[in-house]
Amino acid sequence: MAPLTAVVAPRKLYRLNRSICPTTIVYGCIDPWRVNALLIFLHEELGLEDGEFILMLNPGGIMSLCPHGLASEYFHILELSEFCFKKFSSIRTAVGINHDNCGGYEHVIEKHGPRFLRGMSVGALQMRHLANEWVPHVRLAAQVRPADAEDLRFRAFHMHDSEKDPEAVFFTEVQIG
Ligand SMILES: [Zn+2]
Repeated sequence: MAPLTAVVAPRKLYRLNRSICPTTIVYGCIDPWRVNALLIFLHEELGLEDGEFILMLNPGGIMSLCPHGLASEYFHILELSEFCFKKFSSIRTAVGINHDNCGGYEHVIEKHGPRFLRGMSVGALQMRHLANEWVPHVRLAAQVRPADAEDLRFRAFHMHDSEKDPEAVFFTEVQIG
């Protein structure tokens, strides 16, 4: 077996960007077919450059931060969020994004049974989650920075599958209340 130093011999140098500060923490779904659309949305519609946002991707987006999400994921995401709020005092906005036909939601419904839906359709439950249920949990994580945790701004978006084009999506903002 070749020595490790040979395996990791450098070929190309990549530039760091130490002048950039993250302003936004983004909670979205890992769905690999949708990541490209998500990134373009963050760049073009929210005006965020690479490095200005921290991506917290997990199955189901914000679902794990809502009631009856998967407890193990909930604590994991909460802890990662605390770390980010503590480490980057420049974060002023939290963005939550869900999407149509989400495998993460389907997985939890299979695991917990229909009671997870609380009598709602998946779409209605996603809207309920986006409109308020994830917010207090992120606010809780932001308490590691009590001085400005209250000033944290929240925005929520849903990524809809386009009826006109099966290969395209569009985003709508969901009012938080
Ligand atoms: Zn998903």
